[in-house]
Amino acid sequence: MQISKLFKEGRTGLSFEVFPPKKTSSLDSVYNALGELKELKPDFISVTYGAGGNITNTLTCDIASYIKNELGIESVAHLTCVNTTRENADIILKRLKENGIENILALRGDINPDIPPLKEFVYASDLAAYIKEKGGFYVSGACYPECHYECDNIDEDIKNLKKKTDAGVEHLISQLFFDNQVFYEFVEKARAQGITVPIEAGIMPVTNTKQIERMVSMCGASLPAKFVKVMQRFENNPEALRDAGIAYAIDQIIDLAANGVQGIHLYTMNNPYVAGKITEGVKNVIRTDE
Ligand code: FAD
Repeated sequence: MQISKLFKEGRTGLSFEVFPPKKTSSLDSVYNALGELKELKPDFISVTYGAGGNITNTLTCDIASYIKNELGIESVAHLTCVNTTRENADIILKRLKENGIENILALRGDINPDIPPLKEFVYASDLAAYIKEKGGFYVSGACYPECHYECDNIDEDIKNLKKKTDAGVEHLISQLFFDNQVFYEFVEKARAQGITVPIEAGIMPVTNTKQIERMVSMCGASLPAKFVKVMQRFENNPEALRDAGIAYAIDQIIDLAANGVQGIHLYTMNNPYVAGKITEGVKNVIRTDE
């Protein structure tokens, strides 16, 4: 199924993201989590892929295949290109096709300062164009409401994003953010630049202190005063922090739905409890055509 076709006027889609375990021996715990996530009836589930380009690791494909073929839910396999040759991309595409996977989230991946990029694909748009040229897949891409960290300003980043959609990307998923206004301004600018594809809002429920620290150091998302206050107030009370993180995500999603966002992409962190609470809290405001 073509993911971009899910996004229709008057409907807010819902999708989930999961990541493969570090070890194959922990695969069962991911499959168990997926069994619970299935009950929440997402439109699709995407599966992350490492930026290292190790093609002997088949976990992303295995999990995406399980989601699609065992659970009967559409899946999206992430694929990075910073350390991938064309030859290896072909191997992965063949593997995905053999498993019936039709949707790929084409990404560059972060550049590891200790490993010089291969440069067979410089940008995600190069990978997207390559996949489209090969044929047989629908291609999604990433976008950054607060600007990608390597780019000087949001206008430049959106110009680059347009190159991505021109290369064949037909659906975008955003980096996480905590301030909805930032997302609305980003979408307006993207539309003004001629980017017409559906844009899903990436929502990360923050439910433990470790996540907050990582968030601040890594992704550079701005933290609204309301968010900081809640997190500081409950940082030493895990249950309260979890409740507060869930409530904040629900509040964000309701506001996004009220403002006509086309889709919510929930970074589940493989945690079906949190995803379940959030989905329950928004069940009457999203996917309203069902
Ligand atoms: P690109 O679109 O290539 O952009 C990278 C930078 O290059 C940007 O600054 C952009 O402005 C600039 N640029 C793009 N095209 C051009 C051009 N033609 N000319 C000049 N400059 C250009 N990482 C993983 O390793 N695995 C994952 O599974 C994964 N999943 C993700 C899912 C989502 C929804 C998001 C938002 C990110 C994900 N990432 C993942 C992180 C991502 O790989 C990094 O953010 C990476 O640094 C950029 O990837 P990209 O695909 O956005 O790159």
